[in-house]
Amino acid sequence: MAQPDAPLRFQPLIKRALWGGRRLGTALGKPLGPENDYAESWEIVDHGQDQSVVAAGSWAGRTLAELVAEEGPALLGKHAPQPRFPLLFKFLDCRDKLSVQVHPDDARAAMLDPPDLGKAEAWVMLGVEPGSLIYAGLKRGFDRPALAREVNNGTSDLCLHRFEPEVGDCLFLPAGVVHAPGAGLLIAEIQQASNTTFRLFDWNRTGPDGKPRQLHIEQGMDSIDYAAGPRSPQVPQATNDPRVERLVACDKFVLERVTLAAGETWRPANDDRFHIAAVVGGEASAAGEPLPLGDTCLVPACLKSVEFRATRPTTLLTSYLP
Ligand SMILES: [Zn+2]
Repeated sequence: MAQPDAPLRFQPLIKRALWGGRRLGTALGKPLGPENDYAESWEIVDHGQDQSVVAAGSWAGRTLAELVAEEGPALLGKHAPQPRFPLLFKFLDCRDKLSVQVHPDDARAAMLDPPDLGKAEAWVMLGVEPGSLIYAGLKRGFDRPALAREVNNGTSDLCLHRFEPEVGDCLFLPAGVVHAPGAGLLIAEIQQASNTTFRLFDWNRTGPDGKPRQLHIEQGMDSIDYAAGPRSPQVPQATNDPRVERLVACDKFVLERVTLAAGETWRPANDDRFHIAAVVGGEASAAGEPLPLGDTCLVPACLKSVEFRATRPTTLLTSYLP
């Protein structure tokens, strides 16, 4: 079948949760219904029933899972074959804070029924309200017994390192690091294609049905890396393109930020990899097609050269496999 001649575009999958709001629509242009609890926009995903479907072009109508299975070398280049698309890119509107949570690593997640991937994740702050907090990592000196004591008391947040983030801050959370985004944050997230979360504490609140949401304290406590310590924002690293900063480089993904002046162009490296690209500030076009604020696309490995053009001062996030 013919290979695509433009980056792949998808309909986002919008998820509701009690901590969500409406900023996915107001700030990022996502199509929302009438409710007030839109929490996540899954932009690029291949996870079980959650599937990105190609919107246009020669691969239109096919799911990401189908493309991984049937077009592996064209989509994934040197990383083919893969059992599934390995990364998930999403936006989160944390109107209220999320539960205190931890994700397992690959080895632990593989033992679940059904098995999942582990979840390393990285966040970039797109919106921050005065006083918004991030909880990330155990404070020094909190070992498993000390955390267990606070969890039992319903005060596990006392164990967590916290700070007030700024717009543009990037936080990298390897599997096993306890965390919670606080209220008021609008976040772009790249993560392993996993949906396994163990909740340790839900701030003593109840869900829409009036009941507390389920906690997973034993599994959560077992998944924590007690040596990891507090997490602080990443220090961006320079690359050989002055417009590109490397925010995270780990064994699961690389995350970079591309800052373009109006009219400037940028091309992802022609390196036999796929590249995810999302517009998180300004407005761009890709291969001549408009890519407004909040839009995400996937450049398959077979697309040797694609030009992104900033129509205004623009910030892109791009992510790929190492
Ligand atoms: Zn998380």
